[in-house]
This record gives sequence, C-alpha cells and structure tokens, in this order.
Amino acid sequence: MANRIWLASPHMSDEGYEKKFIQEAFDNNWIAPLGQNVNEFEKELAEKVGSKFAAAMNTGTAAIHLALRAVGIREGDIVFCSAFTFSATAYPIIYERAVPVFIDSDYETWNMCPKALESAFEKYPNVKAVLIVHLYGLPANMDRIMEICNKHDVKVIEDAAESLGTFYKGKHTGTFGEYGAFSFNGNKIITTSGGGMLVSDNEERIKKVRFWSTQSRDPARHYQHSELGFNYRMSNVSAGIGRGQLKVLDQRVAKKRYIFEVYKKALGGLAGLEFMPINEWSEPNYWLTCMTLSGKVRPLDLFETLDKENIESRPVWKPMQMQPFFADYDYIGGDVSERLYENGVCLPSDTKMTDEDLKRICAIIKGLWEQDGTQ
Ligand SMILES: *Cc1c(COP(=O)(O)O)cnc(C)c1O
Repeated sequence: MANRIWLASPHMSDEGYEKKFIQEAFDNNWIAPLGQNVNEFEKELAEKVGSKFAAAMNTGTAAIHLALRAVGIREGDIVFCSAFTFSATAYPIIYERAVPVFIDSDYETWNMCPKALESAFEKYPNVKAVLIVHLYGLPANMDRIMEICNKHDVKVIEDAAESLGTFYKGKHTGTFGEYGAFSFNGNKIITTSGGGMLVSDNEERIKKVRFWSTQSRDPARHYQHSELGFNYRMSNVSAGIGRGQLKVLDQRVAKKRYIFEVYKKALGGLAGLEFMPINEWSEPNYWLTCMTLSGKVRPLDLFETLDKENIESRPVWKPMQMQPFFADYDYIGGDVSERLYENGVCLPSDTKMTDEDLKRICAIIKGLWEQDGTQ
C-alpha cells in the first residue's frame, strides 16, 4: 500500500498545530475525556460555521443519533431521509426504532429533491423530522427545503459530515436546520482520527446532548441516573487534533477546489463525462471530485485501470433504497439516485497529491477514451 494514492486520507498541518494541542493535554494530564481542548474545539467549530453552540462527540454517527433524540424522535415516528447517502445518515433512525422514508435526489444538486420531498409530505403528513445530507460537500437546495419544512412545521437535521467548509448562499451548511452534524472521521476534510460535532442555536438542547453523551449523570455526589445515557463524548486528545486541523480547514478546501479544477480542465471535454454540479449559489468544500460517465467508458473500466496503477477510485454511495438492510422502507422519488450510482465515480481527491500525481491520473483516465477511439 506504500505510495498508493487515496481518495482522501488524514493530512496533518505542516505547522504541527495538532501536536501542540495534544502536548498541552499531556502536560495537564487531560488525557481522560473532557478538558480544555474539548471546550475550545466546540467553541472554535461553532464560530467557524456560525452556530451558537456545539457538542463534541466521538463520531459523526453519534452526533446524528443524539440530534434525533434532541428532536424527540420515538419508536414508530417517521423521519424523511436523503436516499443518496452513506448508511451512517440513516442507521441512527433505526437505533431509535423510528421509520425512515427515503427521498430521492435531483440532478441539480445531487441532494434531496424538493419536489420528491413535497410528495413525501402529502403521503406522510405526520412525519416528525427531515434528515438531509450535503453529499460530497455539495450543498442541498436549502431555500426550497427549509420553505417546505417550515410550512409543515417539521424540524430539520442536516448531516453535514461531508460538508465542513461548504456554504450555501454564504451561510454554512449544518446551520439551516435545528441541528447540524459534522464528522472528523479519517477520510473527511479534516480529521480527529475519529469524531463528530453537533451544532445548534438551541443552548438547552446542546447541554442536554452533552449530558446524554456522558452517561446521563444527574448532578449528585453518587452516581444517579434518571435518563438513558450514552458514552458518546469526544476525548480531549482527539479534540486537540481537531483544534489543529481546524486551523488548516481553509487551506484544505482551497486544495480540494484546486484538485477539482485540474480534473475539470483536463477531462472536461471527454465524451459522456460530466462533473458533479457546481451551482452559482454554492461554495462547496470539494471534499471529493465526483463525476458521472454515460458513454462507452464505464465506471468499472476506470476503477480497474486506476487500481492497477495503485490509485484508489470508487463508485458513489449506493442509495439506501437499494440496500438490502433498508429494503422494507418506503422510498419517494424517481431513479435519479439510482442513475447517479450506476454512472458515478469518485476520483482521488487527497490533499497530499502533487501536481505530478494529478497529471498522471488525468493521463491514465484520458487513455481510456483514446483506446476506445470515441474522443
Ligand atoms: C462519514 C459520514 C457519516 C458518519 O460519520 P462518522 O464520524 O464516521 O460516524 C455520516 N454521514 C455521512 C454522509 C458521512 O459521510
């Protein structure tokens, strides 16, 4: 695996910020959960995205789970959920024994289709929450979605796990709905080796989420519990990495954007190849450069060819309505997410790639079209 080029991998700062914050944690013996780094990371991330409060979790999945609890989701409640996403968006609905109804994407954003969402409201007027994703760092159509959800007075949770650094009309993703969940898993735009964050302007609920995430310990000298608890809190060591990574987030977004632009310039003219949609109202973080192939060169040709060169590329997420585990749940929409899955490709988007790496990848990809004679 040496010298393999990855889709995305951890990229610590050249300045060593992460080590400095971890060193502080060691010096103060703040190795156990909680401590200065957790508190500061919460404040710094909230400020970065323009949210009032934040609660640091040990995974993005935990952040989504506790957002559902914060909204008050209970057994049997219906939750509308983006169909085109990673399973971690939808699993927490099942943790609560609630019922996901999956909603298709549109081609304009690749994210939840407002028209399909409206149809879903007609079919399930008693829905309790809408869980919407900003996939690959592309913002969903938030004006339309918030308008529809506000009209029905239903709370919105944003899975912004892939969209830290992404803005929709100048406002950070994850701050439109009642709750936004971020992830710092190893492949995300910044990482704490593993971690997540829930943001909200609702101080009472964020305090509650911190309470739940530390085993729901009532204020008492002895161990007293009057609510179900979870062990979901971020460790102070992880938070130190996060504080350092947050300092280079803008640099990472700039590099991701550069990677997208290099691909677009080099491959943009190839028959049947189309890049993910970049709308004029969106400022994506370009977490992964994705594209669809609708001509003779198929995604599998590309995966196999790049693999032989020790370069990672992958299909886009397989939609939830196509997953065996979720097969029994309802799905509203057409075949957009299914088509995106059939034709979609994630290109290597690692911020440590050099110009030479990018040139080589582009040449290999172009070669597939030349072989084919259809350029
Ligand atoms: C990574 C990811 C998550 C889960 O985050 P973890 O920190 O890995 O638990 C949730 N949703 C999406 C869309 C993701 O990409």
